[in-house]
Amino acid sequence: MAFSSFGLKEFITANLKVMGYEQPTEIQGKAIPEIINKRDAVIESKTGSGKTAAFGIPVVQSVSPDVPAVQYLILVPARELALQVYRELSRLAEGSSVNVTAVYGGSSFSKQVDALKKGAHVVVGTPGRVLDHLKRRTMSVSVVRGLVLDEADKMLSMGFLPEMRLIFQHLPKRHQTIMSSATFPPAIEHLIHSLMHEPVRLSQEDSSRAPAEIEHLYCMTTMQEKDQVLLRFIEKEEPELSIVFCNTKVDVRAVAQFLSGAGIKAVYLSSDLSQAHRERNLSRFRLGLVQVLVCTDLAARGIDVPNVSHVFIYATSEDLETYVHRSGRTGRAGKSGRAISLVSGTDIANFNLALKAHSIKATEVPIPTDEEIIEARVASEHRVLEDIGYAKDADVHDDYLRLAERLTADQAHTLLPFLLEKFLRQGIGEPLDITSGGGAVTEAEQSAAESSSFREPREKKRRDRDRPSRTKTLCVALGRRDGLSPNDLRSTIKKAARLRKDDLMDIQMGEYESTFQINANAVKYVMKANGKFYRQTEILISEA
Ligand code: AMP
Repeated sequence: MAFSSFGLKEFITANLKVMGYEQPTEIQGKAIPEIINKRDAVIESKTGSGKTAAFGIPVVQSVSPDVPAVQYLILVPARELALQVYRELSRLAEGSSVNVTAVYGGSSFSKQVDALKKGAHVVVGTPGRVLDHLKRRTMSVSVVRGLVLDEADKMLSMGFLPEMRLIFQHLPKRHQTIMSSATFPPAIEHLIHSLMHEPVRLSQEDSSRAPAEIEHLYCMTTMQEKDQVLLRFIEKEEPELSIVFCNTKVDVRAVAQFLSGAGIKAVYLSSDLSQAHRERNLSRFRLGLVQVLVCTDLAARGIDVPNVSHVFIYATSEDLETYVHRSGRTGRAGKSGRAISLVSGTDIANFNLALKAHSIKATEVPIPTDEEIIEARVASEHRVLEDIGYAKDADVHDDYLRLAERLTADQAHTLLPFLLEKFLRQGIGEPLDITSGGGAVTEAEQSAAESSSFREPREKKRRDRDRPSRTKTLCVALGRRDGLSPNDLRSTIKKAARLRKDDLMDIQMGEYESTFQINANAVKYVMKANGKFYRQTEILISEA
């Protein structure tokens, strides 16, 4: 099946190409025609199945841009998910006059009112904040054509039903309803029954909800040893990006602190942090500036980061569904991944029950030994050296060329191991193309960078190897709606991140978001613009 068979508007087809969506995923193939035909639909969504575009494409397709009213309301359980769905829909609507906006708690109410006043056709929001807007009459949903309940099971388990019911009272009698849910407990079935009209139920052929590309492993350990065992696995496996799941906020903070103290670049997400701080941590993780994200299930619900190679389950949850949600954070969009559970005496019963409930087979693995960890480190340094081929094209200053020519064989022999150690510990090519003394590095960032510098070159090289052009596309949540021109964007980012003039390339302005290319080395400097302001709007940059 191809996207062309759905008769989509031209701008959507063009945007899908830009997004790299060549053909519909299985669930998209099933859902798009049904939703375009105005059927009520229940999407049983496997994690990473492409369910956002499964409802997002028909929603954007069905908006009448000439009608200045909210036509589709999308409710989601978490702020991060609101932003993610908003981003996906904005990308689908790029270049058209379809306006998408997001309303969620923890960010400025008045700015949301301004955005709504400018005219939104599609609103993505969390139930509490949507209800606030309805109560204060800063938004109307009285002519809405479609309601989407994304991750409906989570909305119910988070206790949003009272707010949802109040929101439903503001909707017109006749409207289309679309629901996505990973699980179908009785409360969800009841909601479907009470809310939907002869819904079509859509699911993936594969009845097991755990994505097949995930390797499930577990290691028997004790509560006391868990931190050390986790560290050993991270050192041995060298995950590209990994998420560590804990059951409590206290553990989240303690594990993140332990890992940072051990030189691993780790951040955490928890409700203790401000919304801006959470978004910043998530952006740093998305961009690969930190390799480990420690979080609770609640915080993880909205996360969709494609390159998560490993999920570590620090403590098993009592809720049997949770294992599937957690392990499903890796193996996204067809990529392979490993889910490694650290199982102590208190976890074992729930762990076995969860595996059994989902017919998942997990393999026991021993605690990584010192030898395995050293072997992994040496192997990865070798990869860096193999990768050093680009040095022959490097623009080395004449002085150093002359110096190298004057070395005797003995001197070279002595110097080489010393220089290799320096190179492997510190990396090269860091801020060469950036003005020195750029945006302030926080003390914590500085110390994390220093303590984990041993890892930097390996990870940097590995990321660079996958990137032929050594540029990266970044996305900033600012657009024409914020009164921004490409020149404003260039000077705002350059000023906030203290970049040189050639670093920002190929700026593409959208209504709400804009993208630009940046020298890969400069990414971490650009991220320093996060949290600063353009006029009154906070700058939020993430990987496009
Ligand atoms: P979702 O299940 O909506 O969270 O999507 C999971 C991931 O799949 C996201 O990174 C999407 O950008 C990506 N994705 C969704 N649809 C497609 C598609 N048709 N082709 C390639 N990637 C897709």
